[in-house]
Amino acid sequence: MKRLFNISGIVLKDMLTVKDSRRKKKQNSKEKEKMHPDQSMLKKMVAGIVTTTDDEIGCDECFEQLDRFVELTLAGKNASEMLTLVQDHLNRCRDCREEFEALLSIVEHMNQ
Ligand SMILES: [Zn+2]
Repeated sequence: MKRLFNISGIVLKDMLTVKDSRRKKKQNSKEKEKMHPDQSMLKKMVAGIVTTTDDEIGCDECFEQLDRFVELTLAGKNASEMLTLVQDHLNRCRDCREEFEALLSIVEHMNQ
């Protein structure tokens, strides 16, 4: 346990050092930033991670749009293209996928 704590202490120290150098970098000109491709690459990576997180929806949001998704599917429209975030979540979340399939079969049954 003590060893683990020591390691995370070192990591934390490293992270703080990175933060400090970033703060200093902000004060520098943009031209100087170009001289550090690693830094800009890191920024891009971070931006990519943030974007991915923003695009993802949770189970609640998925569920809110699920009836619309089912409606579009039954209307013969490309629901997965119109509601890409719902489709994306259904691909990743088994619970919601089962919910979708259940809802779909219920509505299909009602329409018969
Ligand atoms: Zn879900």
